[in-house]
Amino acid sequence: MVTVDRRRSLRRAGIALAAATSLGILAAGAPATAAPTAAPPGASVTTGRPAPAAPSTSTGTGGAVSSVDAEASRIGLEVLRDGGNAADAAVATAAALGVTEPYSAGIGGGGYFVYFDAATGEVTTLDGRETAPVGMGPNAFINPATGTPYPFATAVSSGLSVGVPGTLATWETALDRFGTDSLREALQPAIVLANRGFTVDQTFRQQTLDNAARFSQFSDTAALFLPGGDAPQVGSTFKNHDLAQTMKLIAQRGTDVFYDGPLAAEMADVAQHPRLAPDATIAPPSGFLTADDLAEYEVLEQAPTHVEYHGLDVYGMAPSSSGGTTVGESLNILEDFALSPDALPQSLHLYLEATAHAFADRNRYVGDPAFVDVPTETLLSQEFADSRACLIDPAQARPKPVAPGDLAATGCEPAAAVASADQGVSTTHLSVVDQWGNAVAYTLTIEQTGGSGMTVPGRGFLLNNELTDFNFVPAFPGDPNTVEPGKRPRSSMSPTIVVDGDDVRYVVGSPGGATIITTVVQVLLNRLDLGMTLPEAVAAPRASQRNAATTPAESAFIAAYADDLAPFGHVLAPVQGTNPSPLAAEIGAVAAIEVDQGGLITAVAEPVRRGGGTALVVEPAN
Ligand code: GLU
Repeated sequence: MVTVDRRRSLRRAGIALAAATSLGILAAGAPATAAPTAAPPGASVTTGRPAPAAPSTSTGTGGAVSSVDAEASRIGLEVLRDGGNAADAAVATAAALGVTEPYSAGIGGGGYFVYFDAATGEVTTLDGRETAPVGMGPNAFINPATGTPYPFATAVSSGLSVGVPGTLATWETALDRFGTDSLREALQPAIVLANRGFTVDQTFRQQTLDNAARFSQFSDTAALFLPGGDAPQVGSTFKNHDLAQTMKLIAQRGTDVFYDGPLAAEMADVAQHPRLAPDATIAPPSGFLTADDLAEYEVLEQAPTHVEYHGLDVYGMAPSSSGGTTVGESLNILEDFALSPDALPQSLHLYLEATAHAFADRNRYVGDPAFVDVPTETLLSQEFADSRACLIDPAQARPKPVAPGDLAATGCEPAAAVASADQGVSTTHLSVVDQWGNAVAYTLTIEQTGGSGMTVPGRGFLLNNELTDFNFVPAFPGDPNTVEPGKRPRSSMSPTIVVDGDDVRYVVGSPGGATIITTVVQVLLNRLDLGMTLPEAVAAPRASQRNAATTPAESAFIAAYADDLAPFGHVLAPVQGTNPSPLAAEIGAVAAIEVDQGGLITAVAEPVRRGGGTALVVEPAN
């Protein structure tokens, strides 16, 4: 096993410039469309230097970064090349995603950071989830004028949904605990990027168009993201000087400026008094966020979830995310069956049944463990999974919703059914492995694409709407996911690290609300059971069964498997529903890495979804 060198190197001085130089967008005289982030359909693979601009798959050695964005992955790779470790690269990549993916990530949100330390073999997690302000009682989502819950869409674009952001504190803690860089150093490339701008691609324009109606309700958001009243054109350069200034301030004065200084007061003011455009047609409910809430915010370090699957150690995020327990339970259930590419329809049937049962348990039992008693150990036990697996008929889907398992029962007794609740479909994930074999799986979000829709005036970032992940009223007696002061809403984010003996083998994660869980399970099954390479496992069409009568699926999955799955009783429906946006037709946006037993790295991002991501390795293989 190699030892991590934690000595701070003298390499930082040139990093901002080096990163800037590596950004294709800076090339003087380059045509506006010269740095597309969209990859052509099908995984593109590096074959040696010079690397293609934004490959969705790269193989090689020396470390790797995978994310949804070319600029962000390049910045992370530059940190690795410069001797930084996985935590350094992850924070720099995340900060860059805050610039290029401002609707999915940024300092106005939260997330979960999973770190594998190659020197000790230990996996540690940071829970940087947003918390409910202390002023938010159990009736916070009830409209006092009507006595009924606010409509979901009303709560989304409002101060009410804004949780205390944890992302910046996560970056600082991750660097302190695992990194070698200071926060100041880690923010530099993102500051350069925000000032110089990035090339708008179709995904960014589409995300802006999808949000244009509500962005236009808030003057500061409209001014930033709808310049001249329209979404930025594809090929134009989008700069965010306000965000650059904000990050510069944080770099110079530390996170106190955010959690205990002027920014705290400004964020609280926006949440309490949403700044509407003069012609706004909405009347968003006010939020409860105060500067004191910011001052009190704490990142939690905690043990990961752990299950064994086919002899591999699968680590994930424990509650307040339901990701680790639900991915883990699904895999434990599937461990009782023999999945194989030779029996693909039945393997997919078992996958759908396993996640449906795991979701019944997730919905019934998982919330913030600081407030409710979450049976994490039981949910991750093979015995409990066995009791769930014995309910699954290898030939026939059970009617949905299925009931949650009885934690005390030893047999297969069903209890009362609990239907599944949904979440947003935004967020972003990045995966990193460094030259020493350390790894990071980091999923971060501001909840919906565009978060609350409210930009902090003059600061260049959106506030999250994470608190809409709470159930507004109890879905059943004892619902663990209702709002309480200081509580974290239940998440589905599932940053996952798979370890083989002493070595990292896979790093996986995705956005997609509750579909994150099924996406991570499906990618692992595709790779470990169904004979696919990692690029194939990521590109394969997806379906997401979360304990509902129909299974939402991508159109390619329906085309390929609907007929095969019909005899099992599965009804598939296009995931898009009535939403016309092409982005709504996709499930997830995976960023993953595999390290084989010989140390060869395969870094994989989406070849097509969300316009394609970028996966880079330090030393591309020939
Ligand atoms: N808020 C969601 C969660 O924590 C993530 C949102 C998304 O991925 O769209 O699970």
